[in-house]
Order: sequence, then C-alpha cells, then structure tokens
Amino acid sequence: MDIKFLKHDKGTNRTLFLCKDTNAVMVNMLRRSILQEVPTMAIEDVEFVKNSSPLYDEVIALRLGLIPLKTDLKSYVLPSECTCKGEGCNKCQLKLTLKAKAKGDTIVYASQLKSKDPKVVPVYENMPIVKLLKGQELELEATAVLGKGKEHMKWAPALAWYRHAQDVHTKGKIPEGEKLAKMYPKLFSWKKGKLEINEDSLLESPQWAEVVEVTDGAVQVTEHKDQFVFLLESWGQLKSREIVVRAMEIFEGKLDALETALKETPE
Ligand SMILES: [Zn+2]
Repeated sequence: MDIKFLKHDKGTNRTLFLCKDTNAVMVNMLRRSILQEVPTMAIEDVEFVKNSSPLYDEVIALRLGLIPLKTDLKSYVLPSECTCKGEGCNKCQLKLTLKAKAKGDTIVYASQLKSKDPKVVPVYENMPIVKLLKGQELELEATAVLGKGKEHMKWAPALAWYRHAQDVHTKGKIPEGEKLAKMYPKLFSWKKGKLEINEDSLLESPQWAEVVEVTDGAVQVTEHKDQFVFLLESWGQLKSREIVVRAMEIFEGKLDALETALKETPE
C-alpha cells in the first residue's frame, strides 16, 4: 500500500490521505486497527467524596469517562500488560481529582480536573461536566487507564472511514452550468462563463451522486478500484500520524504472532 498525505485541517483535526495500489480488505484492516486496537487514556473508575449535584454518581462517572485525555503512549502501559499484574501502579494508571463548590449557579468544566501528570490532561477544557446550583458540591477522585476501543468506544482515538477515490468527467456541454455552480458551490466554480470542478471536492463530498442525477448523466463520476481516500478525525488524545503508525505496528505484531503460532502447530 502506498500512502500519500492529502490535507490536514487543524480546526477539526481531520486528516485526509490517499491509499494507492491496495484493496478494500487492507484499507478496512487499517480502519479497524485504528478504531479497536490503538490505545488511549480514559477515566475508568471514580470515587465520589461529595456529590450534591443534580446528577447521580453513575451519570457523572459516565460523562467523565467520555472526556478525551491527551495520551502519552511512551509513559503508560495497558493494565493487563503491566508488571504490577493489573493491581495498579503509576505505569498503568493516573489519578485525577476534582473539587468544586458553587457560590452561585455555576458549570463545572473538564479544565477543573486536576491531573497528577501534566502531560495527561483533558483535550477540550470547555467540556461541561455538570451544572451546580448555589451551595452544591462535587468532590471526587478519578482513575484513568489505557484501554482499547474494542472494550469501550471511549478509548477509541478517532473517527475513521474511507471511500473509493473518484474522478469526475463531463460529457459535452453542461446545461445550466451557472445554476449548477450556485446549487453546489463546494463542487463547482463558475468562471468566465465556464463551469470548473473544485479539485478538493473530489476527496470527500458526498454530493457527487446527486449531481450525476440532477444533470441527467452529463456529469459522470467514476471510481478508482485500487485507490481510497481515507479520512481520520482524531478526538485529540493522539496525533493523526501517531494513530496511523501505531495501528500499523499493532497489525504487524498480530501477523508475527500468527506466524509464530503456525510454526508451533504440529502438521
Ligand atoms: Zn501497573
């Protein structure tokens, strides 16, 4: 598989890349490895000291679990692979505390979680946890651990999908080109009486199928059977590059394990 970087949008954390000379099986392997196997940190246990907020302990614990935490894969290991044998130590878990008392109506945000490790903190500071009324209190200690998306989606590092790369052809003159450009401004531009295709829209716009229908086949879309546009939208725990590299490493490790197992199997 040949991978070519296409673009990255900092605001949305979306990365697009092109996978060439491959097939859907391989690209889907990459997608599944990303979603299910690449570990990230997330809150797994919460001990409540005080909670007079309107939400039950369970609901707050669930909300805390869904807060993406910046993840440092060099310093932490999965509890199941730790030398402490899952008992809990500072190689496989991290404590975060939260203490809030409302002087007036106030919202408790993710930024109020105090982490013992400055490298592992909430990605989005403005995520609300709960709204407190005057005098209400929330005090807790949370434990974050590394985990995988196949156990719970809170540990998944990103949204990932792919589609066949496509080409757009026009057959003859496009009727009402100017109107078309106005209807689909992301796909076309109308320049000096000519309809032009915006190259970027070929990568991810879902509107092309509609355009083929509207123009009665004057605009045609073809798919490359061996090329795929891959979209990766990181939730922020890890950088896009780290996610892809780690997903590939994990897959290679599985292949090695399979090879070893086959060699050890009597014929
Ligand atoms: Zn440990």
